[in-house]
Formats: sequence, C-alpha cells, structure tokens
Amino acid sequence: MKPLCVHCGYPYGVRKTTTVQEAWPQGSNKPVYHGPLIVIREQVLTSPTDGRVISRDLWDGETWEASHRPFCTARCALDFARKAHAQGIRARRSVPRRKIEPQAI
Ligand SMILES: [Zn+2]
Repeated sequence: MKPLCVHCGYPYGVRKTTTVQEAWPQGSNKPVYHGPLIVIREQVLTSPTDGRVISRDLWDGETWEASHRPFCTARCALDFARKAHAQGIRARRSVPRRKIEPQAI
C-alpha cells in the first residue's frame, strides 16, 4: 500500500524497481522470469552482438520511493510549514546558543 502524506493524507510515491536484463539468444523461446519479485514492465531490446535482450523492471511489492517523504509534494510540505509557523511552532536549534565570554589576556 502506498504511504500516505502526513499533511493531506493523499497516497504518494512510485514503486521502487530494479531493472534486470537477460540475454535472449536467437532461435530460443522468450525466457520466463521465475524469481520472487513482481515483473512491472517487460521490454524486448535488440542487442547488436547476440540476438535480443529482455529487460524487466522488478518490484518487491512493498517498497515505494518519493522525493518529498513524508509529504506527497514539495507544495504540500511548504503548506504544512506555513501553517505550523502561523501556529507559533518554531524549529529547535540542534546546538544551544552559548553566550561568548570575553577572554582574559
Ligand atoms: Zn500532501
């Protein structure tokens, strides 16, 4: 299931896939995938050296990728930040401010 945006609740993300290519020698049947992953896309490419190559995008069925996690979009993250700021929420500093004492010479 897609992750939900922490601000608007909209599902976001795309399936995180890996592309695997397999040689497909001329005159043989199309190779069948027997692995544990889900085949999202299958494409037949022409290899300049040896017949054809089959390219598959594989997904584990649960991993999603998103560039603005945990928000659906940058616009949604900015909207969240503006509303939080309007309510008086401020970021905490990771290093507390120290008063700089004049040093004795
Ligand atoms: Zn959102």
